[in-house]
Amino acid sequence: MSKKEFQQASDNLRKAVPLMIKNQVPTTPTNYALWYTYVDNVIPEMNKELDQVIADYGLCPPASLENLYRNFVASKTETDVRQLRGSLELLLNEAAHSMSDTLADSSAFQDKIEKCFDGLSRVEDEGLSFEEVMELVRTVVSESKEIRHSTRFLNNQLTSASNEIERLKDQLAQVQEDALHDQLSGLFNRRAFDNDLSVLCDGNAKMSLILVDIDHFKKFNDEYGHLFGDVVIKAVAKRLQLSCRDGTTAYRFGGEEFALVVPNKKLSVARQLAESMRRAIEKVSVKDKRSNRQVDAITASFGVAEYQVGESASSLVDRVDKQLYEAKRLGRNRVLPMPS
Ligand code: GH3
Ligand code: MG
Ligand code: MG
Repeated sequence: MSKKEFQQASDNLRKAVPLMIKNQVPTTPTNYALWYTYVDNVIPEMNKELDQVIADYGLCPPASLENLYRNFVASKTETDVRQLRGSLELLLNEAAHSMSDTLADSSAFQDKIEKCFDGLSRVEDEGLSFEEVMELVRTVVSESKEIRHSTRFLNNQLTSASNEIERLKDQLAQVQEDALHDQLSGLFNRRAFDNDLSVLCDGNAKMSLILVDIDHFKKFNDEYGHLFGDVVIKAVAKRLQLSCRDGTTAYRFGGEEFALVVPNKKLSVARQLAESMRRAIEKVSVKDKRSNRQVDAITASFGVAEYQVGESASSLVDRVDKQLYEAKRLGRNRVLPMPS
């Protein structure tokens, strides 16, 4: 690093740390990297998105930071996966090489053995001496020792290569396992929701919360099977994601339940958003491949509440849950509370 680069780096760090403190961002390596990149101002697009997150929420939900880091700073997962793939290929090549070496050895061995047999047939034909016969036998023994050595070497190579491959595969799975996203729906998962909501409540962020529960979902599982149920969950998740506006974040809350954090919006506006999502879900239509039937009677119920300053995350979730329960009780496919 040149003196100038060093100067730049320490300047950046000097600017990044106070910003992190101001935004109450935990000082993790990921966050350092993110905020360092922010003050370095080399990815304007990332700066714009981060500014927007702060503008929307007044602070930084961890899942959003993690996403920005992934998308702009590191693409760490990808890099790791690529590195691991590289190592795997290298190992396989090595194993293949020693395999072909051994095969070459054994065909050379074959040649030599054949020569020995030729020699042995000469014992009778030409009446070789005892010494000459012993010489032939010694050659066979020493050649076969060599080939055995070479085979053992290959075996060891293969065993350690396959151990190494196992280890790399585990690592790969770990890297690919995503701590914050739900595999089925691609939305943020419950863990991301709990994290984000507790940070947002601690920071007294202005926001509303929506909970969504697919109506009579059990009947899709019962009539068409669990896999079809999964397809319905995916389709609804996608529709919710597409309906997210103005920084709204969608999470899979549990089985067939979703949560939406709506930053900077009061109850009436969040209610309207929920209403538009409810209508969007009514339009979802999924084909069951087995029966070739088009299933389009998919609806969901919604509960909404606005966060009240000083309230805990669990109290907010509780209040929204009560609204959702009421929406179910009144006949489903509706948003509660009703507009006032
Ligand atoms: P309600 O309108 O009252 O919400 O009725 P419901 O049938 O949707 O509600 P209930 O809670 O009784 O059933 C939810 C079902 O969702 C139960 C569970 O077996 C199923 N489920 C939970 N997670 C998954 C999943 O990931 N995939 C599938 N296919 N089914 C799931
Ligand atoms: Mg449910
Ligand atoms: Mg349900």
